[in-house]
Amino acid sequence: MAIEGYRIVRSRRKTLSLCVSREGEVVVRAPLTLSAEYIGSFVEKHSAWLQKKVAEANARPKLDLSDGARVVLFGTQYTLASGRTGVKGTVLYLPEAGREEALTRFLKRFSLEVMRILTDRIARTYGFRHAGVRISSARGRWGSCNKEGMIAYSFRVAFLPPALCEYVAVHELSHTVVFDHSPAFWKVVEEVLPDWKSRRKALKSNGSMGYL
Ligand SMILES: [Zn+2]
Repeated sequence: MAIEGYRIVRSRRKTLSLCVSREGEVVVRAPLTLSAEYIGSFVEKHSAWLQKKVAEANARPKLDLSDGARVVLFGTQYTLASGRTGVKGTVLYLPEAGREEALTRFLKRFSLEVMRILTDRIARTYGFRHAGVRISSARGRWGSCNKEGMIAYSFRVAFLPPALCEYVAVHELSHTVVFDHSPAFWKVVEEVLPDWKSRRKALKSNGSMGYL
């Protein structure tokens, strides 16, 4: 199978490298003087791997950020409109250009606010002691907790339904008691959320990590 098109980025590097952007574009990084012919055959040689990566990028769930589109944040549906970034009632305003970046910045603030309240409430109710809440951009994990009890959530938790946000918070808070994923850990989780198994399963099949 042939690769339809690709972008060559030349620099003072010594080796060739291939990658596929989140938008499904093939990018080749190449040394300044390497021939286009050589690059072409290199791309061809890796076409099977590239095809797979392009297909994965295209299958990523897309977030419609046009005016009038709807986005659900922490279980509340907002309608998108153009304006200065922020929420008014159930309208989420984003600037005309650079909407993904603007939404990302907004969600970092918004998630911190919401997850801090949620985490503190669960901690108070069940007697967990944590060192604080932060927001991260890390892809591939919804939350983490370090040895000091500092909890970090991906800003993408905003796309999860409240029951799953709650599971993520309980999971991380339980790490302040048991640091690993041993049976003792799941016992702590279960004391707070008897239905943790179904929530965990739902979280695993939730595709919103790919939105931004
Ligand atoms: Zn964990």
